Amino acid sequence: MTPFASTQDLNEKKVSFDEIGAGLYAYTAEGDPNTGVIVGDDAVMVIDAQATPALAGDVIARIAKITDKPVKYVLLTHYHAARTLGASAFKGAEILASDATRHMIVERGNEDMNSEIARFPRLFRSVETVPGLTWPTITFPDQVSVWLGRREVRIIHVGRGHTAGDVVAIVPDAGVVFSGDLVEYKSACYCGDAHFVDWLATLDHLAELQANALVPGRGAALTRPGDGRGRNRPHRRFCFNSLQFNPGKRKQGPFVERCLRFSPIDDGSKVQEFRNLRTLSAV
Ligand SMILES: [Zn+2]
Repeated sequence: MTPFASTQDLNEKKVSFDEIGAGLYAYTAEGDPNTGVIVGDDAVMVIDAQATPALAGDVIARIAKITDKPVKYVLLTHYHAARTLGASAFKGAEILASDATRHMIVERGNEDMNSEIARFPRLFRSVETVPGLTWPTITFPDQVSVWLGRREVRIIHVGRGHTAGDVVAIVPDAGVVFSGDLVEYKSACYCGDAHFVDWLATLDHLAELQANALVPGRGAALTRPGDGRGRNRPHRRFCFNSLQFNPGKRKQGPFVERCLRFSPIDDGSKVQEFRNLRTLSAV
């Protein structure tokens, strides 16, 4: 089998840590998994935890420069290893995830961990700091609000998409959304757990939120008014074209070419990751 292109992707990425609203930060790294930071009155919530405790340590160092409030919560937008295995660095924090995400960790967490460690040697170069799978301490069916003092973080399972358990975090007082891998900006994501039919509807629901700013799972934060709506379109197109793939009738080659032609992927080197499509369960 052709190795994943990401195994050859060893160049360092430049990290940005930008304030996108009052007390709201996007930790981004040129297409590597993003982390969000929400500073409330008395505590901080982190959205996705990076691939290893070593990488999460850089997030912690940046948070320390903006606030001395403790990180009390780490939200896992979904179960993928490259954004969950760093969680142990946030000592004492509650780990939040949807019931479906916990179920996926039980069902395929180990398999995904081994696969991602092999696929992303750069992200997992400090893999020895990973104590094992990250287990949520608090789970919820579809929705929960966490109050950081007066600041509400509304966590919602808008629908299936990138995985069956995806959730987004909304900060209503600022109109800001942290979407996880449901939305990517100029970046390709792994689709082995994707539900493409649902994903289109889920993107519609996300657009209805009319976010002032949206932090995607990978790529730069979308911070212009209306970005959360308008820039979903390329991602919608990608999902739609992915649906044209029918494992029974077509070969994956043409599918990958179609993704390249129509999807927002502008880095051809990453497209091989779509060759490992494992489930198209909603099709
Ligand atoms: Zn993912």
